[in-house]
Amino acid sequence: MRTYKNIYVTYKNASLQGKIFYLLIVVGAFFALINAALNTLLGLDIATTFISIGTSITCIILLLYAYHTGTYIKAAYITFTILILVIYPALWLTNAGSNGPTPYFIIFNTILVTILLEKKKVYFLMFLKGIIIILLIITEIYYPHIILSYSSSHIQTIDLGISALLVAFFTLIIIQRLMSEYNHRIDELRLVQNQLRKLSITDELTGIYNRRYIIQEISNQLTDVYGLPFSIVMFDIDDFKHINDHYSHAVGDEVIKGVGLLLESEVRSIDVVGRIGGEEYLVLLMDTTEEEAFRRAESLRSSITKLTWSIPSLSVTVSGGVYCKENDDTLDYILDQVDQRLYKAKTSGKNKIIL
Ligand code: GH3
Ligand code: MG
Ligand code: MG
Repeated sequence: MRTYKNIYVTYKNASLQGKIFYLLIVVGAFFALINAALNTLLGLDIATTFISIGTSITCIILLLYAYHTGTYIKAAYITFTILILVIYPALWLTNAGSNGPTPYFIIFNTILVTILLEKKKVYFLMFLKGIIIILLIITEIYYPHIILSYSSSHIQTIDLGISALLVAFFTLIIIQRLMSEYNHRIDELRLVQNQLRKLSITDELTGIYNRRYIIQEISNQLTDVYGLPFSIVMFDIDDFKHINDHYSHAVGDEVIKGVGLLLESEVRSIDVVGRIGGEEYLVLLMDTTEEEAFRRAESLRSSITKLTWSIPSLSVTVSGGVYCKENDDTLDYILDQVDQRLYKAKTSGKNKIIL
């Protein structure tokens, strides 16, 4: 009971291939028993029943071996080698050769080998399988009497039909298991990818876009051949050092965040707001002329002065520079223009917008 529980835990923690191996070896043990029962019912040679029971026991031994060694790979390799060298030839000879179900099992085996083992081992086993099949075909052609055949064509039809169904069923289980695991991992990857993308374009403190994103957006607008006219505003909080020094860094953070969120909430959905440095922001105003941009920037500046803070006596103002893109402007030129206008706003008294 304890071993069974431990095997279940090993199964749960195994890799996808490991899980498939454990699943297969258990299913294989049942499969072989069902086959043994079927062969007995159909009155096939007793040897086929013994081979099937032997296969079932081998499966259980290999399951325990994999559990004790802690890896499925060795056990899987041994399993496949035994199947190819012993079980399939024995089944082929005792269960009607190429007219029996053994070829189905051999094809199913290829699917499993390919899923479970690394390339080199797969090629080696395929080579081994090729040789065994050639030997079996030669045997069947030159010594047909060695091969035990069905007692009637009805029995052959029933045995082949049921074997085909079993192989189809197990193929279905394996492929379903693989696909569900695959889809699950793809979903997980997508989620992580989205989270990473969001992180890479978001400013940590404010939650608005970061420098990388807004600069990229402006570049995209510049290279867009059908691009509409747009304006850029650069805002910088006035006397921010004083806020930090006089109230605390935490209050400074509160102000940086509050100003960022106000800008973001007041612009239109087509506009883009990003924090580009300590207490500096860029706003991309789409389809906006110079005068319109100035008006909007003024309105934003005015809204910021009306914000309230955790320190009631604190009043925050910003200065801004506005520039409307002209033909053939480069990104650096545009950034330089807004910077120069912001500088003018700062040197001419602050709390104002310069066009
Ligand atoms: P001006 O009116 O000329 O803009 O003066 P200022 O005091 O705002 O000057 P400046 O732009 O040089 O000050 C920026 C300060 O912002 C300096 C830096 O310590 C502070 N700072 C930068 N990033 C952060 C941050 O994430 N949080 C806080 N609390 N302070 C920051
Ligand atoms: Mg400042
Ligand atoms: Mg600054």
